[in-house]
Amino acid sequence: MSRYNTVEQAPPIEVFEINKACLADPAPKKANLSIGVYRTEGGAPWLLPCVKKTEVAMSQDDGLNHEYLPVLGFEPFCKAAVSLLLGDVSTSPPVAEGRAFGVQSLSGTGALRVAAEFLARILKYTTFYVSNPTWENHRLVFFNAGFKQCNEYRYWNEQKRGIDFEGLIEDLKAAPANSVIILHACAHNPTGCDPTREQWKAIADVVQDKKLFPLFDSAYQGFATGNPENDAWAVRYFANERNIELICCQSFAKNFGLYNERVGNITFVVSDPSIIPQTKSQLTLVVRGMYSNPPNHGAKVVCSVLNDAALRENWMDCIKTMSQRILDMRVGLRERLERLNTPGDWSHITTQIGMFSYTGLNRAQVEYLISQHHIYLLKSGRINMCGLNPSNLDYVAAAFNDAVR
Ligand code: PMP
Repeated sequence: MSRYNTVEQAPPIEVFEINKACLADPAPKKANLSIGVYRTEGGAPWLLPCVKKTEVAMSQDDGLNHEYLPVLGFEPFCKAAVSLLLGDVSTSPPVAEGRAFGVQSLSGTGALRVAAEFLARILKYTTFYVSNPTWENHRLVFFNAGFKQCNEYRYWNEQKRGIDFEGLIEDLKAAPANSVIILHACAHNPTGCDPTREQWKAIADVVQDKKLFPLFDSAYQGFATGNPENDAWAVRYFANERNIELICCQSFAKNFGLYNERVGNITFVVSDPSIIPQTKSQLTLVVRGMYSNPPNHGAKVVCSVLNDAALRENWMDCIKTMSQRILDMRVGLRERLERLNTPGDWSHITTQIGMFSYTGLNRAQVEYLISQHHIYLLKSGRINMCGLNPSNLDYVAAAFNDAVR
């Protein structure tokens, strides 16, 4: 008889289950379109050259050691992350006026967790809103951090295969003051559909009118358009142009290919710089009671790359390479489906952006693809475009065609 006898089996995490099932599938022809990681044309992970170069230099640097970082992280990294998001002193009023600061985090998830605990425990906010659909981890992270109520705002319109913007605005207008609104900064996961600039302006109007708190989740800066500045447009508009107080949770997993190094930052934008010391003091206790202090390696790498002109240029090239490869796969998949006269309209494959596409394939079609064609995707029909490559495009398109008919 064990003390643990009462522990019930928790439900599996879909994306990891599907990924595992694909890896275990002995079929010679298979495709993994599940987990959100970048893959080269050859289907392999990619260590960015600027990252490798920095790591080689670090390994030779006798000045480095494994001392603890401060609780709130490596300050030069946080500064670089804030500037990558908002701009520098010449372009961003919050940066110029000392109204923006960063806290290093355990990648994007850790950023969300610390931000959520701060909002729940210190600001005493209770309700958060997520888009329907959203990244499946938002709910778990926010409830674990102490939030009591999750509401959804409408986002995906199945008929249009695009954003239900009227529904979104209506739902935000009905949200109680101080609701935390989770907004995907760019490359919405899972739909691949972002609001237009005009639509972001209308969202900012509602956020301001209704006194809502915007929390941006920025896990794909650079992946939407290939240009990190463009991809930060919405956050910059809220912070720099509209003067709205906000939090933005940044992940460097995808755009630096540093998935397992857990490199992230929480950018805080405040209206009054005099409240920063007490805010940081509370964040210090949140982090101290959670994991005490963050890891060093990945943050040093990102900081070195962003602060060195040549390495930064190489990084910008890497971002272009990765986003262009995704675009090429979008075009390739759509072309093939249209050539096969696959029933339905497939234009959304190329209008959607970022790593993911909401294909519109239904549950039965997804199950058919997995069981009959060994093509692994989420039951929502979400595919990771990076799972496609020149050697499997024909196979995947033919299988989609077969599943739809
Ligand atoms: N937010 C969204 C929308 C994501 O898709 C992801 C990655 N799957 C994250 C946050 C966080 O990822 P990580 O913790 O690996 O940075």
